[in-house]
Amino acid sequence: MELLRDFSADELAEILRAAGQPPFRAAQIYNWVNNGADYDAMNDVPKSLREYLKARYRAAPPRIAERLVSKDGSQKYLFVFDDGEAVEGVFMPHGYGNTLCASVQAGCRMGCAFCASGKNGLSRNLSAGEILGQVIAVNALLGGSARSRKIQNIVLMGSGEPLDNYDNTVKFLRLVTDARGLNFSSRAISLSTSGLVPEIRRLADEGAGVTLSVSLHATTDESRQKIMPIAKKYPISELLAAAKYYFEKTGRRVIFEYSLMKEYNMNFFDAKRLAEFCKNLSAHVNLIMLNRIDGGGIGGCTKPEAERFLEKLTRLGVSATLRRSFGSDIGGACGQLRGNYKKTEKQPKTDV
Ligand code: SAH
Ligand code: SF4
Repeated sequence: MELLRDFSADELAEILRAAGQPPFRAAQIYNWVNNGADYDAMNDVPKSLREYLKARYRAAPPRIAERLVSKDGSQKYLFVFDDGEAVEGVFMPHGYGNTLCASVQAGCRMGCAFCASGKNGLSRNLSAGEILGQVIAVNALLGGSARSRKIQNIVLMGSGEPLDNYDNTVKFLRLVTDARGLNFSSRAISLSTSGLVPEIRRLADEGAGVTLSVSLHATTDESRQKIMPIAKKYPISELLAAAKYYFEKTGRRVIFEYSLMKEYNMNFFDAKRLAEFCKNLSAHVNLIMLNRIDGGGIGGCTKPEAERFLEKLTRLGVSATLRRSFGSDIGGACGQLRGNYKKTEKQPKTDV
């Protein structure tokens, strides 16, 4: 069934106009949808219209099938869609505004060696409304509404590659920044990509104005190719040129994500090259402690080693931070909740 949330305010207005409804109905219903309401709650909408829509479109956000709450205030969710497909999301409380990490695809086909989301390939793309639904569901769960949000920032860093689901991701950005909807500022949204060069350029031309995070993770093509298959398609030089284009076109400072893997990306020359890359771009480096995945051969580093690498970068004049880690008490690497869910609920039960 189609989702009401997949429609923009204008598209919804057109659907209702075609159904013979007055214009103000669209605004009412659009607001309900962004508040996370199902048809039963839409008490200022005539029952007959609710029945009409209910027969055609789903209004409720995805079901939150699991919710884990950490002592540090972060929360992890498993969102389940109508077809039983599931993705994860994480809520992180920050003094300067709460952040939701959302997913754009169920699984991922990029195959990065260190990542749990890509282990079983791509299951399917999420629609714009399914991405938006994660924000709406959590906001509603935490007692927020479209006008008074409990979420201030969004990072597209859950499962999936946003630029491999380009149209739906861009539509999601339009929906979530619409003043008639959740009204996020594009500056409050980060899009993280493993580095699809043509799509980075396209996004720059799109004028979406979101913060671009590039998952760099290595400073030579040779080492990057060992951990990220996409690096075989686009050399670092092309990726940096695209990042520069994004910076110049949008004026938004680019962020390099850099997950620390001792064997691949942490020697002094890496720090030097990283400093060189940043200089041309005034980029910021976000260092991440690798979350080791089951069966993955790639190791991370210790906290003191991470701090030493950060110090090296800082001494070289790089703007860099070591990302604070959340939810250490509520489960390991991303992808774990979904993995368990797929094993227990989605797979046909067979006796072995
Ligand atoms: N596909 C996009 C966005 C989702 S992944 C991308 O790759 O950028 C979000 C971030 O988490 C990326 O920087 C990714 O490289 C990183 N990441 C994936 N698996 C990780 C792991 N096991 N430990 C630490 N960071 C990881
Ligand atoms: Fe996909 Fe990103 Fe994971 Fe790579 S790191 S497999 S691009 S989700």
